[in-house]
Amino acid sequence: MSKQIDIFGNETEVTNPPPSGGRRYKRMQELYGITEGKTCKTCKHLCSYTQSRRWYKCGLWIRSASQATDIRLKDTACGKYEEDT
Ligand code: SF4
Repeated sequence: MSKQIDIFGNETEVTNPPPSGGRRYKRMQELYGITEGKTCKTCKHLCSYTQSRRWYKCGLWIRSASQATDIRLKDTACGKYEEDT
């Protein structure tokens, strides 16, 4: 273990940040289970956006500007699936 001097002048152990790479958000399918035989493509909660590319978000899930909250049309529908009419 290496040591560092903190902002108060005390010597402390260097602590490493947790390893990165894990998914930050639990997906809807992990939270609510799945709806067999359906995909997000036909769900009324699917939101579509277009600029230089097209991307999709779930209206019931976290909607940030990050691609980490994008969903795919072919994703297996979650337990909150409702048929788009
Ligand atoms: S099936 Fe679930 S995850 Fe997919 S768009 Fe509908 S509510 Fe969102």
